Amino acid sequence: MPDPFLSIQSVKKSFGETAVVRDFNLDVGRGEFISFLGPSGCGKTTMLRMVAGFEEPSAGRIVVDGKDVTNLKPNQRKIGMVFQAYALFPNLTVAQNIAFGLNVAGTPRAETAKRVSEMLVLIGLPQLGDRFPYQLSGGQQQRVALARALAPKPRLLLLDEPLSALDAKVRVSLREEIRQIQKELGITTIFVTHDQEEALSISDRIVVMNNGRADQVGTPFEIYNRPTTRFVANFVGTLNVLEGQVVDAGAGTIQVAGQTIELGRSLAGRSGGDGVSLALRPEAVSLGRTPGRPGALNGTIADVHFLGSVIRVRTKVGDRTVSLDTFNDPALPPPVSGSAAEIAFAPRDLMVLGD
Ligand code: ATP
Repeated sequence: MPDPFLSIQSVKKSFGETAVVRDFNLDVGRGEFISFLGPSGCGKTTMLRMVAGFEEPSAGRIVVDGKDVTNLKPNQRKIGMVFQAYALFPNLTVAQNIAFGLNVAGTPRAETAKRVSEMLVLIGLPQLGDRFPYQLSGGQQQRVALARALAPKPRLLLLDEPLSALDAKVRVSLREEIRQIQKELGITTIFVTHDQEEALSISDRIVVMNNGRADQVGTPFEIYNRPTTRFVANFVGTLNVLEGQVVDAGAGTIQVAGQTIELGRSLAGRSGGDGVSLALRPEAVSLGRTPGRPGALNGTIADVHFLGSVIRVRTKVGDRTVSLDTFNDPALPPPVSGSAAEIAFAPRDLMVLGD
């Protein structure tokens, strides 16, 4: 990236002997919405806290808008942050909560009042300025926390699992609102979550973290459809995994359950006879070849679950199960357990899993 707004360079963090963030590198463009996605304990929050200035890196640099901020205090970084727990001041009204950062910065009264009104409109709560936090729902409290973070016009917005305390329905509507507001303001944002659907639905790019490292950085489409590591492939979405053996690495020929398939590309770093794990998303598989899905394995239908508009079919190829979803077409006979199945795919969708 030629001119990143935020650049995290070889950052490491250890607590005592334990390395929590190991050599983390990331460039974030101006106005980008980036998610840190990963399982509990992989170092997402610690990395975010280093960007905010609440933790000091053990090594590396953090650069914002061309300036090294690694040694700046949090209040010198112009960063807005929203946490998982609502963390509003309970004894202050909504308007006073939103005004908090502006008051600390010594903003003139009239300007603060104007900004608070703007923020209340932005979060869709123009009538609620005089309420106290206990008089708000969880979703409303999180919107106020967002307004409080945004009021002083920060350069970066950092969101640490801001939706995880909310119920499912509110979570979905609020995440869309957050994305809308972020786009409207064009503010560079990092969003921490362990929820893959959340990350896929709102991010420009996702950083999938594993054990203190960025395993893969990419758009939601790339992360889901073209995972580069076994960890990413398994963590994001569901997968059918098939074990095979390389026949010819250069030609991309692989044997699976006694059948030969053509990958249509060479297999870097492998040779004939090597074991190889292949993965296919259920939606990349169909029953019967089509022009778009010319590759196939022969198997049998193990069982059929009729779900209404979708029929979920589990097939067997050798000792492996390959699940697929097919649309219910009332004009066609439904799949039958025990019958032979041609399990078709586009070779491009076959993922070769690394370690
Ligand atoms: P979660 O989704 O559970 O919040 P996370 O990916 O955000 O997980 P972190 O909170 O960054 O993970 O924690 C990573 C590891 O670092 C954990 O094993 C945690 O126990 C450890 N850790 C975090 N802060 C400290 C600290 N101040 N002292 C010692 N260990 C810490």
